[in-house]
Amino acid sequence: MDLHLNDRVELKKQHPCGCKTGVITRVGMDIKWRCEGCGREIMLPRSKAEKSIKCILEGDAGQ
Ligand SMILES: [Zn+2]
Repeated sequence: MDLHLNDRVELKKQHPCGCKTGVITRVGMDIKWRCEGCGREIMLPRSKAEKSIKCILEGDAGQ
């Protein structure tokens, strides 16, 4: 999966706040995204993050 900073992503499992979308805020060994519902940041190792992310909704390039 090709993740970039500021990509909007849809998650397979919704966050406890009920929101299923987030914005990537860090890309590296770990992936971090900010939940669009509650604003909290979730950080996971890349391998786990890729399993948690269903798809990329919007890339940074289109904005
Ligand atoms: Zn949330």
